[in-house]
Amino acid sequence: MAMSFAALAGFVVGALAVLFYRNQIEAPNRAAAADGVETGAALPQGVASVLAVLPSSAVVLDAHDRVLRASSAARAFGLVKGDRLMAAELLALARQVRRDGEIRESEIDVAGHKFGQETTNFAVRVAPLGSYGQVLVLAEDQTERRRVEAVRRDFVANVSHELKTPVGAMSLLAETIQDAADDPEAVSRFAGRMQHEAARLNYLIQDLITLSRIQGAEPIPTPGQVSIDEAIHDAIEYCNTRASAKDIALVTGGTEGLRIWGDDELLVTALRNLIDNAVAYSPEHTRVVVSVRPAGDSVEISVSDQGIGIPEEALERIFERFFRVDAARSRATGGTGLGLAIVKHVAAAHAGEVSVWSKEGSGSTFTLRLPAFGGTAVAVPPSIPLEAAK
Ligand code: ADP
Repeated sequence: MAMSFAALAGFVVGALAVLFYRNQIEAPNRAAAADGVETGAALPQGVASVLAVLPSSAVVLDAHDRVLRASSAARAFGLVKGDRLMAAELLALARQVRRDGEIRESEIDVAGHKFGQETTNFAVRVAPLGSYGQVLVLAEDQTERRRVEAVRRDFVANVSHELKTPVGAMSLLAETIQDAADDPEAVSRFAGRMQHEAARLNYLIQDLITLSRIQGAEPIPTPGQVSIDEAIHDAIEYCNTRASAKDIALVTGGTEGLRIWGDDELLVTALRNLIDNAVAYSPEHTRVVVSVRPAGDSVEISVSDQGIGIPEEALERIFERFFRVDAARSRATGGTGLGLAIVKHVAAAHAGEVSVWSKEGSGSTFTLRLPAFGGTAVAVPPSIPLEAAK
């Protein structure tokens, strides 16, 4: 992105130089006549049209630091007010460029113009424009790019950390097995634990693959109509063994026959993660209820449990990648910390959303709200095949 800005800025500076040069040949005296002094205060022909199509903020200063032209982005960002360039750092740069004629690049921070945003970070390129002391300033807002970079760095650090734990454990277990070669019982026990760690590694890798697949494929490449009943059935089947082991009843309810427009595999993945969590964070002998209801042009699927609940202060963070209320507990249940991030992305890929209600000690309800197939949530009786019901 920085490269492309530099390339674009380079191109624009070059193009404007040519335009300016031509203009000097065509009408060098026109500006002088208009202003009375040879400031070249009028913009060279064609420059305004080039600046108008630029996505970045563009400002042209005259020989006295007055703004001759500023794009609306430059004004919106607060770089320019009236005929003045507001950023002192930028003004100093423009003066240097005017003095020695050398193109300069830099990064500057400008106090926030948007509510809640502290500063805006700009990549700037400043170039002389012709021989009347005019200077061109191009500034590209790179706050968002910086934020994305920081998120990516964090993510890579988190993934490395998450991978290190099971890999470290497996390496230790392998050493222990070597030392216990003449104790078959110990070998079998440690081999079992190695398998457990390998399974954890496998879950993590699977979740990472799923996450990168949905993040990269928004919106869904080949959507179709998806039966919610079937998706719930498949998800429940997947979670059954775990639920039975804790004597947790998986119960379905609500309206049958509803459909959404989307990807059945992704919907099953999201539901599986929600039901799996409901089971993992609930005590034995409780109930997990999956229910469906039409809601205008959407369908709501909710998964409710009678589990440990989520502290209020953690509610807004649980959809972040690798966020866990209790890391030890999550790991003990085989959690990767990616389940809800996957659910959030599946909802987004369907142009829907996911919300949560929870009370510590009472339980949680996660609700997926997804656009209904055909624009309205209409139930199709199970006897009519989906294709025929279009
Ligand atoms: P994990 O693999 O750790 O379960 P998730 O992304 O699925 O990761 O969930 C993030 C965190 O949200 C969990 O570690 C847990 O603390 C909390 N959480 C998710 N679902 C529930 C639930 N149904 N009840 C209580 N806590 C939950």
